[in-house]
Amino acid sequence: MNSQRADNEGRQFAGPVGPTRWGGFKSPDFSRVDVSSTMVILPIGSTEQHGPHLPVEVDSLLVSEVAHRAAALAPALVLPTLWVSLAEHHMAYAGSLTLDFETLLAFVRCVVRSLKRQGFRRILLLNGHGGNMAALTLVVDKLSAEFELPLATATYWNVAAKDFAAILEGQPNLLHACEAETSMVMFLRPDLVDAQAACTVASAPTGFLQEGGIHRWRDMSHWSRSGVVGTPRLASAMKGERLLEAAASALADQFARGAIWGDEMVKPSPV
Ligand SMILES: [Zn+2]
Repeated sequence: MNSQRADNEGRQFAGPVGPTRWGGFKSPDFSRVDVSSTMVILPIGSTEQHGPHLPVEVDSLLVSEVAHRAAALAPALVLPTLWVSLAEHHMAYAGSLTLDFETLLAFVRCVVRSLKRQGFRRILLLNGHGGNMAALTLVVDKLSAEFELPLATATYWNVAAKDFAAILEGQPNLLHACEAETSMVMFLRPDLVDAQAACTVASAPTGFLQEGGIHRWRDMSHWSRSGVVGTPRLASAMKGERLLEAAASALADQFARGAIWGDEMVKPSPV
């Protein structure tokens, strides 16, 4: 059997599995899906400023790509990407859009409820936007109890943190409109990158939000005039390809291990 497949946009992915794009299925096709064991991925992107050199759709573009690449390596169905999420801290910059937390929770709740009604049990919220990390942990904890399903969430650059650290030269992991994001967009859609601006934009210091173990909220404009955090001038398409491959295979490794869906429980027993 041909190990190459194309999604509906015609892009080729190497991998042993069949179609994985939920939106491309016809309704009767779902009767051939083993709903109790098939993982469903909801990619969560964002629409928010990415400095002067990258478009506002970066997070949605990248998380969609990572989700489909991972699903091509380990079987999963990938839902259409949520293109707006929690970007309040970017709202001082033109082009940014945000949900409030309650709306994000309500949206995910409705998607999970719909999936559960069709028998799906393995649901992963794949995050591609830093501003969602704390919220999605909360969403997963809350909805797992509500639906009695072991929901999971992962932010792709955290799953691939070791590989990202080895590939990147100027920063330890993905930041914002940075070496990593610029590289991946350069590989995927070079037409969307203003290479001149990427080389000249001023980058802000990192580590500002979590100092000495204390978290407080700050709007992005408090520490980055350009909207960039990291070093986009170090970006290259070659790094971008390696980052995407690393993210997909780190996720696929986790999926293949299956431990995230393990049902083992330690029964509480008062001594
Ligand atoms: Zn983002």
